[in-house]
Amino acid sequence: MVAAGASYWRVGPFILMVAAIVVMALERLLPHARIWQRDQGDTRTDAWHFAGNLAVNQASAALYAVVHAKTGGALGLWPSNWPFVVQFVLGALILDLGLYAIHRASHMVPFLWRLHAIHHSSRRLYWLNGQRRHLLHELLEGTPGFLALGVLGAPPNVVACYMAALTLHLMLQHGNIDYRAGVLRYVFAVAELHRWHHQRLYADVQGNYGALLSIWDYLLGTALPKRGDAPLDVGMDDEPDMPPDYVGQLRWPFARAPGARLACDAHTDKCDWPLNGE
Ligand SMILES: [Zn+2]
Repeated sequence: MVAAGASYWRVGPFILMVAAIVVMALERLLPHARIWQRDQGDTRTDAWHFAGNLAVNQASAALYAVVHAKTGGALGLWPSNWPFVVQFVLGALILDLGLYAIHRASHMVPFLWRLHAIHHSSRRLYWLNGQRRHLLHELLEGTPGFLALGVLGAPPNVVACYMAALTLHLMLQHGNIDYRAGVLRYVFAVAELHRWHHQRLYADVQGNYGALLSIWDYLLGTALPKRGDAPLDVGMDDEPDMPPDYVGQLRWPFARAPGARLACDAHTDKCDWPLNGE
C-alpha cells in the first residue's frame, strides 16, 4: 500500500492493531503450548513493555522523518529511483543487520547483557513478550541501522515499513502459535528457531540472534543446532534476581555494578558465570 502511494501513518498503525487481534485469536485457536496460555503474573509487565517500546519505535520513525526532511537526505547516496519494494528490502537488510550486531554484542558485553537479560526473563512465550525489552536497549538496537540509513538518505517510509514489519514479526516470533515455516526458516527468524534462544541456561542461548532475518546466523556461524522442538520450559536461570514488575526491570540493570557475573571469551564465545557473591 505504501508502494502504491499510501501514507505509512494512515495505514501502518491500523494494520498493526488488526494484526495483533489476529495473532491473539490464533494463540487461542492454535496454541503451541497450553501452559503458555496461562498468566504467570507477567501480563501487566509485558503490556507496559509493549506500550513503551512501541511508543519508542513509532517516535523514532517520526523523528527520522523530521531529520530526513531537514537534512535533505544527507549524502544522497540512497537509490531513490529504485522500486519501493526493492528499497524496502535494502533498508530491511541494513536495519536488521544492525539489530543482529547489537543483540550479539549484548550476549558478550556485561552491561549490555544486563539490559538484554530482561528479554530472556520471560517464563513463557506469547505475542506480548516480543517487546519485553529495556527501553534503553530498544534505542541501542535501532541506532546503527538508523544512522546508516540516515547518512545514506533512505526515505522515511522505508524505515517506518521495516519497523511495522518487525513489530508484526516479533508478535509471531514469540507467539504461542503452532505453525511451521518450512524452508522459510532459512530466511526468517521464525518462532521455531527463536524458541531455542529462550532456553533457561545462559550458556545454551549463545546463537539465533536474528531479529527479522535468520540469514545472519547462517552466514556468520551463530545458528543454534535445531533438534525438533525447543523446550517449553523457558526463562533465565542465571539471572534469578530479576524483579517481576516493569519499573523494577527498568531499574535492575543499574542496581549493581555489571561485570561481576559474566566473563566471556570474545574468541570462543565461551562464558563463565560467577554466582552472586562468589
Ligand atoms: Zn538474546
